[in-house]
Amino acid sequence: MGSGKKYVYSFGEGNAEGDGSMKNFLGGKGANLAEMAGHPKLRLPVPPGFTITTEMCMYYYRNNKKFPAEMKAQVAAAMKKVESLTGKRFGDPADPLLVSVRSGARRSMPGMMETVLNVGLTEKTISGLIKKTRDERFVFDAYRRLIMMYSDVVMEKAEGIEPAEGAGIRRQLESIMDALKKKRAYTSDTQLTASELKSLCAQFKERIQKVLGKQFPDEAEEQLWGGIRAVFQSWNGKRAISYRKIEGIPDEWGTAVNVQAMVFGNMGSTSATGVAFTRNPGNGENKFYGEYLVNAQGEDVVAGIRTPAPINESSKSEHNKNLTSLEKGMPKLYKQLFDIQKRLEQHYRDMQDIEFTIENEKLYMLQTRVGKRNGPAAIRTAVDMVKEGLITKEEAVMRVTPAQLDELLHPMIEPANEKTIKPIAKGLPAGPGAATGMAVFTANDAEQWAHNGKQVVLVREETSPEDVHGMHSAQAILTAKGGMTSHAALVARGWGKCCIVGCNTIHIDEEKEQFSAGTTVVKEGDWITLNGTKGNVYAGQLTLVQPDLKSNAELSAFLKICDSVRTLDIRTNADRPEDAAIARDFGAQGIGLCRTEHMFFGPDRIKSMRKMIIAETLEDRKRALEELLPYQKEDFIGILKAMEGFPVIIRLLDPPLHEFLPQEESKKKELADELGIPLEKLEVRMQKLHELNPMLGHRGCRLGITYPEITRMQARAIFEAAAELVLKKVKVHPEVMVPVVGTQTEMRNQYDIIKTIAEEVQKAKGVKFPYLIGTMIEIPRAALTADKIAEVAEFFSYGTNDMTQMTFGYSRDDIGGFLPDYLEKKILPSDPFQTIDQEGVGQLIALGIAKGRSTRPDLEIGICGEHGGDPESIKFCHKVGMNYVSCSPFRVPIARLAAAQASVEIKKTKDAKRKK
Ligand code: PEP
Ligand code: MG
Repeated sequence: MGSGKKYVYSFGEGNAEGDGSMKNFLGGKGANLAEMAGHPKLRLPVPPGFTITTEMCMYYYRNNKKFPAEMKAQVAAAMKKVESLTGKRFGDPADPLLVSVRSGARRSMPGMMETVLNVGLTEKTISGLIKKTRDERFVFDAYRRLIMMYSDVVMEKAEGIEPAEGAGIRRQLESIMDALKKKRAYTSDTQLTASELKSLCAQFKERIQKVLGKQFPDEAEEQLWGGIRAVFQSWNGKRAISYRKIEGIPDEWGTAVNVQAMVFGNMGSTSATGVAFTRNPGNGENKFYGEYLVNAQGEDVVAGIRTPAPINESSKSEHNKNLTSLEKGMPKLYKQLFDIQKRLEQHYRDMQDIEFTIENEKLYMLQTRVGKRNGPAAIRTAVDMVKEGLITKEEAVMRVTPAQLDELLHPMIEPANEKTIKPIAKGLPAGPGAATGMAVFTANDAEQWAHNGKQVVLVREETSPEDVHGMHSAQAILTAKGGMTSHAALVARGWGKCCIVGCNTIHIDEEKEQFSAGTTVVKEGDWITLNGTKGNVYAGQLTLVQPDLKSNAELSAFLKICDSVRTLDIRTNADRPEDAAIARDFGAQGIGLCRTEHMFFGPDRIKSMRKMIIAETLEDRKRALEELLPYQKEDFIGILKAMEGFPVIIRLLDPPLHEFLPQEESKKKELADELGIPLEKLEVRMQKLHELNPMLGHRGCRLGITYPEITRMQARAIFEAAAELVLKKVKVHPEVMVPVVGTQTEMRNQYDIIKTIAEEVQKAKGVKFPYLIGTMIEIPRAALTADKIAEVAEFFSYGTNDMTQMTFGYSRDDIGGFLPDYLEKKILPSDPFQTIDQEGVGQLIALGIAKGRSTRPDLEIGICGEHGGDPESIKFCHKVGMNYVSCSPFRVPIARLAAAQASVEIKKTKDAKRKK
């Protein structure tokens, strides 16, 4: 006995047992069919039918692929309703009802499961249908389609038969049909005559008997149950299983089965079928958009055999502009469809993707669902719908994904172009967007070639500050080693440059100036194209499409909506006045990190920087520092000015020293000459500076503690720059940040030096301005003792790059070596240098915030590690109560969106809790 549960839900125009809210139970398709048919505001012409629930799918699998006792009666009762609504009977030889049997999971899984059409056509019902339709050809065409689909889906796939590639029953039947077409010299299926189709059906059945050892079923009931079973079986078909894995769809969701009266768009010139969107999905324009075919079935529209015609003027394109639109060809039906799509969009309050069929001048709606759209369309639709009063600002913010917004910010490989070609290698996606250029293998070549007007991609084992001139000249950077926070990644992202790192399947031969990836060899000068958003490397020059930000009014309007919703501030990581200005244009509200060591990359400055590093005596160091001071001051003036009174965090020197010293012999010699010392002396000094673990070495505040004159020089440059601007009536708000702090005593030591200089400069210049002295929280110990550190530090900024490195013990520069394995084997869910590890590192962050604010309740707290530009991590930062996130200039728009989404999500959870 069964449980007496309801497993079957009927629908038909004006009435439905389910509704649109029952997606989990009826699947997306079933719920929307019920909503369209039965909702009092819609009551649309939907062919009647019924949905068997997803629960039944699970029952079927849990009970040895059997249905409960009550199922038969429920299906029979539902079929009766369909019969009474259509006035036809299933299996009736005189006027047969035909049905479709389709899948429909909670979330759309396009093409991953099975469908059977024209179920109910048998030897007995064929003649009745011919009499009714007076169209023998149409009936035999429907029959041959049923035989092809059914034998493939029900008799072969659902039975678990796995024929060799290309030897499946469908393929075999297709070859029989192709042979006949060839014999008759036909170019299209539509040329086959009624008697030819009839004889094909007979041949098909013979072949099925021979290959599958079973007769094609000639009973309507048997066909129906075969179809239902096959759709449930297809939930566990190979395609569906792998799609679920990729999309993270749980196995226990199951699929529903929709059985629905067939309507035919292929009953002659007064019939048609089509697909449409309530707005243009390519650009978001608020214009009804779609395609249709006269005298065709749904599968013909997507099959691409005939060119579909535009449904109206605004859907016309180059390749279909001469075809008759539905608007012109069937004006009355077009008007009816137009009104329906408007009502659907108003009802669902989102752009819809709809399917319709016209059978003998009667319009039927077969499907509606939220329409998929690209980035520009998502943004335009969201902005327009707020203006139209259709959705709230909060809803608009949730309608655009960060990835869709990202599409607008960088050049992309022309999508159609990218689809046709396979990557030669894959690495970590360190700098988004796409770029193409000729491969070069040294920074000098990159600079030289670019100088000569060539577009280049710099390919290196890994990069160092030595390479920055070449990195800057190149269109993109590709490295074999390194992780998401390695040198190349940080620098490229800061410039908004396309970059792929940790691409360990390429093998660079520096001598020959070439690299290999599998069987492909790329020589110097050969074109390659990078997709830095996906991490894909392609051979050759692919076509790129450029973004247009300045004149993109929709984008600015959308970001303004985000700003009105978010509470988290967005700052930027910028080391140069130009970058600060770009970030301001993108909407940054201050600088969260200015890495002062990056300011010394320029060829005019690196020499003084090296002198400072190499200096053995206080005098030598002071002299080098004196040389650096004016450069620093000039840059600080530029940055403070660009930020117009917004806070600017300037971090004291934090160079892993080795990054600034040359490795190659010839370069060392050059440096010795520049410094005016013998090479041997330089080598001895470098030997002394050599560290086994430079990332854990003499860096950050440790430098400023051993050499207080460095901190003094930098503090002076910052405060003098600020004072000079104040004298010129420019508002400033510098915040001086001490890096790599692990103890309160370290912080105290540096704080006192900085404070003294600040007071001295203000006094000497006779000005006063607001400023703060604070610290990075990047060492686990700093987070653990944050209450103590906050007794001195006036602000915290989380350096999650180092904090991730030190919490996991993974080298941020070398993780590329094993990360792909870790991701594939699911040791890690994602790259922890890209998305904050909330479970571990996240605990340290939350603890540090709580402890810091226990000492200093108004402590300003932000994040300046690379995670500050990652949407998931930004949401986490909002949740734990940070004041701002800071990211590279080109990520600022994404951060504005993610911060707004975080606000909406938190509000939703709070509201839900309150309701409970
Ligand atoms: C960090 O460690 O997260 C940080 C921002 O500093 P850097 O990347 O310069 O070490
Ligand atoms: Mg750091």
